Amino acid sequence: MRIDVITLFPGMFTGPLTESILQRAQDEGHLELKFHDLREFGIGNYKQVDDSPYGGGAGMVLKPDVLVEAIERVSNEGKEGKEGKPWRIYLSPRGERLVQQKVEQIASDHEWLILLCGHYEGIDQRVIDGGWIDEEISIGDYVLTGGEIPAMVLIDAVARHIPGVLGKEESAAEESFSESLDRKKEYPHYTRPEEFRGLNVPEVLLNGHHAEIEKWRRQQIDN
Ligand code: SAM
Repeated sequence: MRIDVITLFPGMFTGPLTESILQRAQDEGHLELKFHDLREFGIGNYKQVDDSPYGGGAGMVLKPDVLVEAIERVSNEGKEGKEGKPWRIYLSPRGERLVQQKVEQIASDHEWLILLCGHYEGIDQRVIDGGWIDEEISIGDYVLTGGEIPAMVLIDAVARHIPGVLGKEESAAEESFSESLDRKKEYPHYTRPEEFRGLNVPEVLLNGHHAEIEKWRRQQIDN
């Protein structure tokens, strides 16, 4: 999968996406991430990207001409490629709440995503109304300073469902909210030592009886 991120702060993505499973996914070619600095699409000598809101009020609004130029330019970059048309997502507290089923759907339906990160007061509504955004997604009912952390959350969650990204031992099949657990929360896990500061591993997990272990785990699943 290819994911292009349009952001005023591309530097924020170094670290969270360049370690562990997500870095390996990029090294092995399962995931291609590209970051586009919105400032480069800014207008005039000062590369202006925002302006004060019509109607007054605090905060600045990202300008529609700058945003659409960035979305169109990035969309055109891949036209000749195998990815086809990008699915354009704006990370927004007003969007549809991101849940596991939504993550799985995005991973299975799309080869190429563009993620638009807002900042300050947000983006000019005409970018959405004019059809340059396919979907608005929120990572929860709270407000962050920008769309960068929500974009990282979405990338991480979606990447786990790209074939080849998780090794067999890290499979996403039996995790909290997965279909195989009826979308419920997973059972608890234990590892060595068998006794830790007076706390013991449940007996059933020690006896090697797979049917009983399975039954116990089913009972633990959150209702
Ligand atoms: N004025 C907006 C509102 O009240 O809904 C909040 C803007 S927020 C300070 C700036 C940017 O952060 C947004 O444009 C969006 O991209 C991002 N953002 C903040 N909270 C988010 C959330 N819960 N989910 C997704 N994106 C979020």
